[in-house]
Amino acid sequence: MSKILDGKIVAQHMKADMIERIDQLKMRGITPKMLIIRVGEREDDLSYEKGILKNCKALGINAEVEALSADANAETLKAVLRAANIDDRVHGIMLFRPLPPQINQEEIIKLIHPGKDIDCMSPDNLVHVFEGGSKSFVPCTAQAAVEVLKFYEVPIQGAKVAVVGRSLVVGKPLAMLLLDEHATVQICHSKTKDMATVTSNADVVIAAVGKAKFMDAGYFRKDAVVIDVGINVDELGRICGDVDFEAVADHVQAITPAVGGVGAVTTTVLLNNVVLACERMNP
Ligand code: NAP
Repeated sequence: MSKILDGKIVAQHMKADMIERIDQLKMRGITPKMLIIRVGEREDDLSYEKGILKNCKALGINAEVEALSADANAETLKAVLRAANIDDRVHGIMLFRPLPPQINQEEIIKLIHPGKDIDCMSPDNLVHVFEGGSKSFVPCTAQAAVEVLKFYEVPIQGAKVAVVGRSLVVGKPLAMLLLDEHATVQICHSKTKDMATVTSNADVVIAAVGKAKFMDAGYFRKDAVVIDVGINVDELGRICGDVDFEAVADHVQAITPAVGGVGAVTTTVLLNNVVLACERMNP
């Protein structure tokens, strides 16, 4: 059986450090606060929001939700964002995406104060990720995958890493973060020819495809470390990854599960960014 890279343990470890930093801030009379902005009531947004609020409460981070109706217009959303940008009590802003079609997302994300952009939506922060050596925020899922690799001391420097997926939210920023850690990175996508040859040559394979159980054992070397970012629903309505866990778990060195894997770390990275934003605003 492969070693299971348990994201819950990584999250616990990060939270222990965060609790100490939050205590330090509170001793100075400062409580980190995040504002969640939601337009509409998409089921997956509500579920993510519930998880964030529960974690904020447990850690002692203040959280507020600004819920706009699904037919809200861009001007209403802009007014909420502008108010949050100048509110000193708000340290981190998170906006659920995708936005409804009547609102131009590209225009909105440019308005978020880069110092409060805890989910790395603004082009200002994203540019730093691609420049490398960044001290800005990075997209939370990409950072979560790196946190898992680091916690389990998976060698990254000099390693051959294949990232499957090139979205701006996961694949591309993750490839840049790994490049920053001195990995040799190959990025695969839907037009990649003979992808199994690329991935089965890699020491570490990151799956961010968005297709249930897409990668079977034929994609991996026996000593590969597999990080499955995917969150999908299988034909039986169960949560599954982009990797066919049952088919792969006996064939590789180590693997993250779909439940309790990278996803378990993503929310913690987001909340860590709230604390970080608060620390930066109150040096
Ligand atoms: P996305 O925007 O749909 O991107 C999917 C990527 O996979 C694209 O770059 C696409 O290539 C590539 N792809 C699609 N079919 C392929 C194929 N047959 N062979 C090779 N590559 C293929 O998805 P995403 O937002 O990056 O999310 C990826 C996964 O991560 C999803 O399962 C999502 O649910 C999950 N996710 C997890 C978390 C978490 O916290 N764990 C957070 C966010 C997302 P092209 O560019 O050529 O189309």
